Amino acid sequence: MVFEVLARDALGRLGRLETPHGRVETPLVMPVVRPSGSILPPGEMARLGAKMVITNAYLLHQNGERRERALREGVHGLLGWRGPVMTDSGAYQLAEYGRVEVSNREIVEFQEAIGSDLAVPLDVPTGPEATHEEAERDLGVTRGRLQEALAIRRRTLLVAPVQGALHLDLRERSAREARDTGAPVAAIGGVVPLLDSYRYEDLVEVVLASRRGLSRAMPVHLFGAGHPITMPLMAALGCDLFDSASYALYARDGRYITPRGTLRARDLPESPCPCPACQRAAPREMDEAGLAAHNLHVTLASMSEIRNAIREGALWDLVEQTCRGHPALLEGLRRALQHSEEMEPEWPAASRFLYRGSESSHRPEVLRHHHTLRHIPLPPRVLVTDKNPPHAPEPGGMLHLKPAFGPYPPELSETYPIGPSWTLEDPESRRMAIEGLRALVESHPGVQFTLEADPRWAEAIPEGLRGKMEVRPSNAGRRPSGDGGRGL
Ligand SMILES: [Zn+2]
Repeated sequence: MVFEVLARDALGRLGRLETPHGRVETPLVMPVVRPSGSILPPGEMARLGAKMVITNAYLLHQNGERRERALREGVHGLLGWRGPVMTDSGAYQLAEYGRVEVSNREIVEFQEAIGSDLAVPLDVPTGPEATHEEAERDLGVTRGRLQEALAIRRRTLLVAPVQGALHLDLRERSAREARDTGAPVAAIGGVVPLLDSYRYEDLVEVVLASRRGLSRAMPVHLFGAGHPITMPLMAALGCDLFDSASYALYARDGRYITPRGTLRARDLPESPCPCPACQRAAPREMDEAGLAAHNLHVTLASMSEIRNAIREGALWDLVEQTCRGHPALLEGLRRALQHSEEMEPEWPAASRFLYRGSESSHRPEVLRHHHTLRHIPLPPRVLVTDKNPPHAPEPGGMLHLKPAFGPYPPELSETYPIGPSWTLEDPESRRMAIEGLRALVESHPGVQFTLEADPRWAEAIPEGLRGKMEVRPSNAGRRPSGDGGRGL
């Protein structure tokens, strides 16, 4: 087995990828190594914690001297890297310059000959502005090249590209075709223009559409998304492999990456980071290599944080925090949550649930609870309350109320997600809780419901629901919605 899933959280996974040059843990980010020489020596990358790197086979192939060396020493010998190496095919150059000086067969055979662990056929990256017809035509070419590559490959793990521009039906179809070839790895391509223009809503749609067609047994690479603020959301949507050129490109441009965004190094007289480069110099005094080392350190550390979050069941909580680093990412987060219904069946229970703002009201856990409410057995009369009344009208006839989740029987108060979640009352969490109440009332037509709650709740009940139950405002004092400190 090439890929083994060890743990899951949100749609993300902690996995183990077996390659000809050893085993790596995913999600993983690969620093991009330029074949002409990198700003950081590979030894330094390994010291910073990189486990796998990616380089461009096309650029290696186009330089006579380097091509001969790569064929003689292998790509590992040429780069001085012992761990797994992924190679890209020149598709990026194809997107950038419109043509490449190599055929698909040549570049796949070359990747095989230089011992790439993961190799990509020469797919056609379709830009986001492409029409359906254009994207479909490109897909046909990509499909043919993938088939050709599969017939050539021997040791290398072949990466099946998923294209289709912004046409979600094509993304899904391309993913399904990639799956059906039996290629061991998938890569979602053609998204760099979306990342460059902060189109995270589109990116979320593309990733989710691709996911619909892919097998869960395939690790998924998302080309070009290796920035610390982008990776948590994308990992939580099921992406396993990332590549980062930005650690070096940003360094060249004097930019200093942080887990919450990118800053101008020249504006920073002191370092907020404990990495070796930052211990030697303040960001504004760093040279390009120092900045690159710091940027890579932060990128790799962010990926460690993601893997830890999966182990802890806290990945979506990390996503909600990091997506507040930029409004465009917050839009991406909201877009992802519009798919909660779709994500819910695969969403593992027991994720950390801390209310981080109105978006938290739309987590799949909340929808799942609303579904559960439709099936709970109830006596003929039920009191739903946000207080702890002295007695219930009859046994089993009292439900409590929790922001976002809505009504719940007392016996669920200790179990997930009601017990360990820490919520907060705001208009959106009240609205969603009332959606839960609606699900309960509408699925139990023979039951007589009374809501006894703070006037804020009573006022938020829509007219249609109000007619189906007795609503009694109570002013008996506010009850904290938290759980007394658990979960923090
Ligand atoms: Zn640093």
